[in-house]
Amino acid sequence: MNHKGLLIVISGFSGAGKGTLMKKLLEDYEQYALSISMTTRAPREGEVDGREYFFSTREQFEDKIKQGGFIEHAQYCGNYYGTPKDYVEKQLEAGKDVILEIEIQGAMKVKEQFPDAILLFVMPPSIAVLHQRLVGRGTETEEVINQRLQRAEEEAVGIEGYDYIIINDDLDTCVKELHELLTKTHEAIQTQYNPVNYEKLIENIRTELTSLVKGEK
Ligand code: 5GP
Repeated sequence: MNHKGLLIVISGFSGAGKGTLMKKLLEDYEQYALSISMTTRAPREGEVDGREYFFSTREQFEDKIKQGGFIEHAQYCGNYYGTPKDYVEKQLEAGKDVILEIEIQGAMKVKEQFPDAILLFVMPPSIAVLHQRLVGRGTETEEVINQRLQRAEEEAVGIEGYDYIIINDDLDTCVKELHELLTKTHEAIQTQYNPVNYEKLIENIRTELTSLVKGEK
């Protein structure tokens, strides 16, 4: 499959600051489109259906799985989460760089289907900061916080499967560096797949080969 846009997967422990990072990246740069996932988890205070997530029942979610409506889906702490296919494909075709903010199982499934996808893992500067952020958020019960910390421990095993690790310390610096990294990746992929960029090189190789075959040198 040859899409114009870049597929970007961002994962990270709950509380690593992925959400804030993505929000700022989208505010500062126009070329990114954020995919909105579907989930069976209950909305948190302030979350709006169709903005943070498409909230659904387990039945609706399972129907969509059967219809092949997801690029990937996974279970996380007892709830379903999935990336709807339509939006992502449309945006990629339109040349947008599409961001999927998903957990590790989903990330690995995306990499299988889209080998050119770039996988980023966002880390907090320390585990103490991670804990503080989860508690400070004030939206989760202690039980949920513990579940998420346990999940973080499990996910830490798979970090090697990602292409880059992003340390989310200072937000502004992090967004800028992230954008630079993505721009470079975009250019590298375009160069890699676009023979026009290698015109001169290909021409030289052909000329040299012809000379060699003719025994000129
Ligand atoms: P939260 O409940 O905190 O919003 O999200 C829990 C986890 O689910 C996060 O790690 C988030 O990145 C992940 N997640 C959100 N949407 C999707 C999705 O569509 N697919 C997968 N695999 N994970 C998702």
